Amino acid sequence: MAVATKRQSSSGRGSIAHKVFVRSSKAGNASKIVREQYLRSDIPCSSEACSVCIPPQNADGTFRPPVLAKIPNSNKQRGPHYVVVDTNIALKAIDLLEHKSIFYDVIIPQIVLEEVRNRSLPVYNRLRNLTKASDDEKRFYVFHNEFHQDTHVTRNKNESINDRNDRAIRQTSKWYQDHLKKTVDTRQNISSMDVDGDSSSSSAKMVVVPQIVLISDDRDNRTKAEAEGITALSLRSYLKEFPNGDDLLDLAPSDDWTATSSGLAAIYPSFYPMSRLLGGIKNGTLHQGILSISQFNFLEGSVRTQAYPKPILVLGRENLNRGFNGDVVVVELLPKSQWKIPSSSIIEEEELGKTEGADNESETIETDEERKALAEEALKAQHQQGESAASKVQPTARIVGIIKRNWRFYVGHVSAQSAAGVSSSDNSQKSIFVVPLDKCIPRIRIKTRKLGELVNKRIVVSIDDWPIHSRHPEGHFIRSLGEIESKEAETEALLLEHDVEYRPFPKSVLNCLPPEGHDWKVPENIESTTDEQLKKRRDLRHLLVCSIDPPNCQDIDDALHAHVLPNGNYEVGVHIADVTHFVKPNTPLDDEGASRGTSVYLVDKRIDMLPMLLGTDLCSLKPYVDRFSFSVLWEMTPQGEIVNTEFTKSIIRSREAFEYGQAQARIDDESQNDDLTKGMRILLDLSKKLKKGRMDAGALNLSSPEVKVNTESETSDPGNVEIKKLLDTNSLVEEFMLLANISVAKKIYESYPQTAMLRRHGAPPATNFEILNDQLRIKKGMSIDLESSKTLADSLDKCVDPEEPFFNNLVRIMATRCMLAAEYFPSGEYGYPEFRHYGLASEIYTHFTSPIRRYADVVAHRQLAGAIDYESLHPSHRDRNKMESICRNINKRHRNAQFAGRASIEYYVGQVLKADESEQEGFIIKVFSNGINILVPKFGVESLIHLEDLGDPETASYDEDTYTLHLQSKDDKKPIALSIFDKVKVYVRSVKDETSGKRKVHMSLRS
Ligand SMILES: [Zn+2]
Repeated sequence: MAVATKRQSSSGRGSIAHKVFVRSSKAGNASKIVREQYLRSDIPCSSEACSVCIPPQNADGTFRPPVLAKIPNSNKQRGPHYVVVDTNIALKAIDLLEHKSIFYDVIIPQIVLEEVRNRSLPVYNRLRNLTKASDDEKRFYVFHNEFHQDTHVTRNKNESINDRNDRAIRQTSKWYQDHLKKTVDTRQNISSMDVDGDSSSSSAKMVVVPQIVLISDDRDNRTKAEAEGITALSLRSYLKEFPNGDDLLDLAPSDDWTATSSGLAAIYPSFYPMSRLLGGIKNGTLHQGILSISQFNFLEGSVRTQAYPKPILVLGRENLNRGFNGDVVVVELLPKSQWKIPSSSIIEEEELGKTEGADNESETIETDEERKALAEEALKAQHQQGESAASKVQPTARIVGIIKRNWRFYVGHVSAQSAAGVSSSDNSQKSIFVVPLDKCIPRIRIKTRKLGELVNKRIVVSIDDWPIHSRHPEGHFIRSLGEIESKEAETEALLLEHDVEYRPFPKSVLNCLPPEGHDWKVPENIESTTDEQLKKRRDLRHLLVCSIDPPNCQDIDDALHAHVLPNGNYEVGVHIADVTHFVKPNTPLDDEGASRGTSVYLVDKRIDMLPMLLGTDLCSLKPYVDRFSFSVLWEMTPQGEIVNTEFTKSIIRSREAFEYGQAQARIDDESQNDDLTKGMRILLDLSKKLKKGRMDAGALNLSSPEVKVNTESETSDPGNVEIKKLLDTNSLVEEFMLLANISVAKKIYESYPQTAMLRRHGAPPATNFEILNDQLRIKKGMSIDLESSKTLADSLDKCVDPEEPFFNNLVRIMATRCMLAAEYFPSGEYGYPEFRHYGLASEIYTHFTSPIRRYADVVAHRQLAGAIDYESLHPSHRDRNKMESICRNINKRHRNAQFAGRASIEYYVGQVLKADESEQEGFIIKVFSNGINILVPKFGVESLIHLEDLGDPETASYDEDTYTLHLQSKDDKKPIALSIFDKVKVYVRSVKDETSGKRKVHMSLRS
């Protein structure tokens, strides 16, 4: 929140404005930060037509050329003009702004860029890309209106921030209009050679003063603009001025929803006004938190708040009140009589809404099915009161306000009802439903003229609004990804769904790479160098270094060596790709890496964080060539105790790049006794001691089946699926990477106690294990002890069923799901005891060993280089706020990358299983009152089996106390009991789900 005041400075040269930021801290305190802002008069308009403004200078004294063309584009109704857009247009129509046929010479007021950044980081990044200097094609210019003395506006008393910002945007438009009238010299003729981007081929043109057109979908804002003498158009009216306007219109957010729906009754409660929300949060009657919607029940949400140890439940459409998964919401508790236990049934929207149409939807809050489900829930809650399960009753609440929307682009497909009976020749506008891939998201209503082209396609839509009178959110079509189930469309869909930036690196980023390209070389002779930086590197090319990686690894981050020292101890070295030699802070390359945060690995595709030239060549510690690296060197006793640790930038020459299996074979081959092999044997021996030490200290060995899909390289059609096998050499590398990360964490924390890039893993709250422990106690007489990670590890070891060898694994998989996620943080954010990495049983930890594919490691490298005085640390890595925002982003990217990877495996497994049905062993890992969830370890997939597919639904009863579902089989009325942990035989195949358009693993019980 920012409030600005303005006063003239005493010098009269410029003026000073005070910007007051109110920052709310984690603990809920607000602090005020006052920043002085000097207003300037020398910010250029950056129009090539202007004869007055002096273009800004680069650091080397050269001038940056103006961005906006001398003769900008015109259309059938309007002469040459520049466009100014407001924040909502930027947010909702970013695809149109990027469109090749429209939006050239666009002025983005700085306030718009700032607002976009606050509302949506992905859109912000795309807008930034449009404005980057090298992207000269579209000519987007950011005008620093907040710093210019003629365009800076001060917020009036009683004026909302929105109104103030709208006024600032109008002021910018007005200034441009007046400024260009004064500064454009219209007497000159110019030849068509100068006319960039204009398709007209006339030989000479008159320079005219470009018009300014403000595009805004806010009617009130447009009216005010017109009154101030500014041309203002709605996006739709502007698009209609172009020859391909009709095509473009389909891509535009709808602005006529409100027009068609006026007079409709509200079907959701209205939100409280902001003042009431803030007051309520302050006095503790309302609670703020992030809404998360259950994967199994789209009508069940929960909100974690500061005030309560357990999440507060939000049940049913009315209480969810238009909240979206991930929104920052404000909730109000319901009376205690309405508190409930979390749902034990599966509710999917596709099942409930089958009969609904998009045009004439019944505007009631609940369908009959929903009412039934809710009534059941209510009954159950009442039934539970006073019994043993009373402790399971949880507070419930309703959403009374939404602070921040988590809306993004959604991938989905046209619902079956909307698609029914459509003909490709029908071009009338229709209101249709799009079913999002993400099950936590309700169906989205859009209007389109091209229904025929959209059926059976994966499409991207954006949400515009969720009015109070509309049962569903309303949005518009963005683009089509291709046929449902085609590999291209599904891969792009999962990248979009997980917000992975996968487009090629822009020119500005590639410009940061060494000009020598693949010919770049480490200097041969470093003794005689005059390069101060290079002199500080230690030459380690004599060491017998090798790398050990999975098959076909091209981005080799790490390499190792070990040998015996004269005193009988060992020298061990971990050498990491010196990425920060190439990626300098505050460059487009660095910004891109920071924004991507991580490389993303899909089954048959890798989306790199850094350009290939660095990742797979110049940084990659390939064998037989010299490479720059960042080395951690230890002296260790033969027992694996560290005597001494050193860090140095270095030059190495890897002798061999092994795959895990090859390294294992070499170590095991007794006929091999060369120094490289001996070194590897030392490493293996030490790694076993290190591992034992960690396990004794309570490190966890949590497993989840890691599935590998074999793809045949030619066609990339999936061959078969197998669980990855782990060799000793996997854990050899693992142990030394952990050790290097811990050593580096200690060093950078010592040097930068407030801002060191660290990684923590919190101890799981006991409440997370309540259900699993209850299940273990009742079914197996076992329990998991959460006292410490050591007791947890020991008690997990004891969860053994002699009859069922997989049982221990199963418990570990289920326990993993009760754990918290590890997270990056700047060291100043927590006290030292909270740094602890629970899973690794280490008191401090960071990521240092994979800088090619993780941005956290890039920051850790820079901090370590600063700590050893190799080079000074960039200010952004010494700033708490900047580090917090870096960490927030990489935590999110990391999560998304994992989800995308899993979704990719799921897609391929679905394709493999398409071929034939197979009989497999499965385990029941969740029991609902109307179905079960089964895990098939062989494929690492799980699937729901609904009641109807298990037996006769009429005979079903769910015993909550024993986690058992009882029912009779359909034909011979045999009693069936399905209970948690049970091993079952299932038929597994994949089917294309006609409702969701997604290929799903389908399982049925073998009776
Ligand atoms: Zn100018």
